[in-house]
Amino acid sequence: MTGHPAADDAAAWFRDVFGAAPDGAWHAPGRVNLIGEHTDYNEGFVLPFALSRGTLAVAGRRSDGALEVRSRQVPGGGATIPAGALAPGAVTGWAAYPAGVVWAMRAAGHQVGGVSMVFDSDLPRGAGLSSSAALECAVALALNDLHGLAVPRSELVTIAQRAENDFVGVPSGIMDQSASLLCQAGHALLLDCRTSEAVAVPFDPACTGLELLVIDTCARRELTDGDYASRRSECEQAAGALGLRSLRDITDVAELSRLADPLLRRRARHVVTENQRVIETVALLRAGRLGEAGTLLAASHVSLRDDFEISWPEADVTVTAATRAGALGARMIGGGFGGSVIALVPADVSARVLESVRAEFSRRGWPPPQFLDAMPSAGARRVRGPFKPAR
Ligand code: ADP
Ligand code: MG
Repeated sequence: MTGHPAADDAAAWFRDVFGAAPDGAWHAPGRVNLIGEHTDYNEGFVLPFALSRGTLAVAGRRSDGALEVRSRQVPGGGATIPAGALAPGAVTGWAAYPAGVVWAMRAAGHQVGGVSMVFDSDLPRGAGLSSSAALECAVALALNDLHGLAVPRSELVTIAQRAENDFVGVPSGIMDQSASLLCQAGHALLLDCRTSEAVAVPFDPACTGLELLVIDTCARRELTDGDYASRRSECEQAAGALGLRSLRDITDVAELSRLADPLLRRRARHVVTENQRVIETVALLRAGRLGEAGTLLAASHVSLRDDFEISWPEADVTVTAATRAGALGARMIGGGFGGSVIALVPADVSARVLESVRAEFSRRGWPPPQFLDAMPSAGARRVRGPFKPAR
């Protein structure tokens, strides 16, 4: 069992808060989607990989049936939810994420008793790296182990997604939880969002002298939930106008000429070409030709910027600066209008790329971007425990 550097610290905090030793510690990673943006709800393909960064849950069973949670990232913002009080709408704020997982586990028929938990995370929140799924998946795995449930990971994915959709109230797809629970080190995960079939694909930039940089532009989306909903609905309208169940069913962009509305045609063109780019990227990865995927990342960004219209100024500047400084390709990731950019770079130019992005931000008076390394890492796992009782 591999440990985690912050687990002992979080366990000590658990002892301080709850006056007893925890039963164990679990870690669930955040993720980056290499390619396949806004394809998930069109029943298409995505290709995420897990980061080494993620969320730790240190947990212990309790006999009163209640759920009590604290987070290092929300000082003073703990919550206690008594047994029997768990229902959608009953818990607000961040605690709805862990509470939602307990609720969804029980709704799926699993016997989950009371539990105390503390969380610590090194993932930026709202940066498109899925801190929400990392939190949910750490809880799901902790509950599974603590109560000896042996629920398969594929079902934990659905439970964590249900917590986010039906308890927190965020209509997200299945990618984030799948990535956090199913990814393997040195691999990305090809996920078919129609069938939920998940296949590991070798992805190890360092082996070929490359690096995948994650650049948090530190711009955060604001009041744009309506944009996400309108993109979803435009995609549904486009599929409906073509007499199809979803845009997944189109493999030839020429078929889109049947769409009369130019806006719907552009939205659909993004989805159709993006699905093709995922498949082409997978073929390159399997052939050990990752460097050539740079042009696909670049094309994905142009498509998201011009056809899907969800990029934001900091992302466009980052992509241009990174490319000019030697990146093989770069693109915005996530839902749009804020969050992060990824750049595929030869290892020997990565410092120059970062410097160039930093300089462009500084020239515009923008807050400095944050750089994260993105080593394709393992999915959620138990990292400690059982802990010895404190003396
Ligand atoms: P993303 O998943 O891209 O980081 P979301 O908006 O989906 O962004 O999820 C962020 C939300 O998840 C936060 O606002 C908070 O409610 C919750 N969250 C994530 N990580 C933590 C944490 N370590 N402690 C408390 N809440 C967290
Ligand atoms: Mg999220």
